[in-house]
Amino acid sequence: MKKNAEQARYTFPDQQGYYGRYGGAFIPEMLHRNVAELQAAYTEVLNDKKFQDELDLLLHDYAGRPTPLYHAQRLSEAFGTTIYLKREDLCHTGAHKINNTIGQILLAERLGKKRIIAETGAGQHGVATATVCALKGLKCIVYMGEKDIERQAPNVARMKMLGATVIPATSGSKTLKDATNEAIRDWINNPVDTHYIIGSVVGPHPYPDMVARFQSVISREVREQLLEKTGNELPTHVIACVGGGSNAAGAFYHFLEEAAVKLYAVEAAGCGIDSGKTAATSVLGRPGILHGSMSLLMQTEDGQVVEPHSISAGLDYPGIGPLHAHLFDTGRATALSATDAEALEAAFELARLEGIIPALESAHALAALKQLTWQPSDRVVICLSGRGDKDMQTYMDHMAQQSPK
Ligand SMILES: *Cc1c(COP(=O)(O)O)cnc(C)c1O
Repeated sequence: MKKNAEQARYTFPDQQGYYGRYGGAFIPEMLHRNVAELQAAYTEVLNDKKFQDELDLLLHDYAGRPTPLYHAQRLSEAFGTTIYLKREDLCHTGAHKINNTIGQILLAERLGKKRIIAETGAGQHGVATATVCALKGLKCIVYMGEKDIERQAPNVARMKMLGATVIPATSGSKTLKDATNEAIRDWINNPVDTHYIIGSVVGPHPYPDMVARFQSVISREVREQLLEKTGNELPTHVIACVGGGSNAAGAFYHFLEEAAVKLYAVEAAGCGIDSGKTAATSVLGRPGILHGSMSLLMQTEDGQVVEPHSISAGLDYPGIGPLHAHLFDTGRATALSATDAEALEAAFELARLEGIIPALESAHALAALKQLTWQPSDRVVICLSGRGDKDMQTYMDHMAQQSPK
């Protein structure tokens, strides 16, 4: 991949982990050693040939990569353009999250760590972490809010079946941010033998950059596949949903330096941006510190984190990764949003037109198709971040409401 100043500016944070004004590492004193160790090791390890070969092999044989770039003909006809779906829904465990957890488990192995911790909200990242810990025979502890444990029973069962210990976070609102606090506390208490796997492009430096690199395989493949299919490796538009921003970072990564490629990140508007029940961070957020980095954050006047709302658990996050905050600030990417209702409509549309049931998160990216205008000559790539099996209860409730019997 060619490198130039633009790419350096957008893709890589500076030495301290800043993307413009966002990023950095705001951590308790007790964590400095762990984070410094990771900062020192990660680029060296990532650029090591043996590491890359092992990563590529697992992505291929275990995760099922490359995932197809599928020309969705009936969806394209409906919008009068040419639409390709990047099928991350076909990855092992049903979403893109495995790309990152495979990378981080190999890194943990390199660093000699024997114990893995993670935090999870809906359980998707917990399952992806428990999966790679089973693969490598490493001890896995997942922190999860007590309320989320009740709401997400199937994913809790998956983690347990995979051999992980799920520890409830019982403080505060008993959800994701409380689970994150517990995970950080654990890391402070076990600095030598433990690696903390963060599931999105959030957290203190080097996590946002490290996770973006592990997810960048998405856009690396898109370039190759588009070239093969169309003779041109550049799409005109790339669209992805954003919770913390890892699938979007992966889908954008190798196009950041290509000014002709328009990038769209779709947030969850929940019940509507002005409804008070939303997760539209880039519209409502102000700079603040969450999970160890400076980014846009939904907060009250006095800096308390506002509980987000979205129908999709994976987008139900009050912040956004620092890379995305920077891309919005500089105008390189455009933030859009879709409501719960718009996402549901888009999910049913894809199911009927293409025979693919998307994750509710991914349905937000699909919903953006209605918000933009299209030319037949456009080449639109949508990152289909995950499959909809986990969301069937929500889809069933929706169908029951549509046709009450
Ligand atoms: C977790 C998840 C997301 C949101 O996370 P990002 O880091 O923003 O990608 C999106 N889609 C699916 C299917 C997920 O499981």
